[in-house]
Amino acid sequence: MKVTPYQKKEMCQTLRDALAIVEALPEDRSCRLCEHFEELRGYCSEWRSNVPSDARAQGCEHWESDIPF
Ligand code: SF4
Repeated sequence: MKVTPYQKKEMCQTLRDALAIVEALPEDRSCRLCEHFEELRGYCSEWRSNVPSDARAQGCEHWESDIPF
């Protein structure tokens, strides 16, 4: 596939615009999606403590998704 310099420039700008949109999306780091959270007990294995119900939606900086192996 060959493109003109103008087409190439336009395509690169479109990709940069799309990347900016994706990077601006808010991240869901709630406890319910975290590997460390036991939903039935409301327990966090990282902090070894129950997470107050009003803090679960926010999560914390130790949020982790499933381990991929
Ligand atoms: S408190 Fe942090 S580490 Fe614990 S379950 Fe919530 S997000 Fe995960």
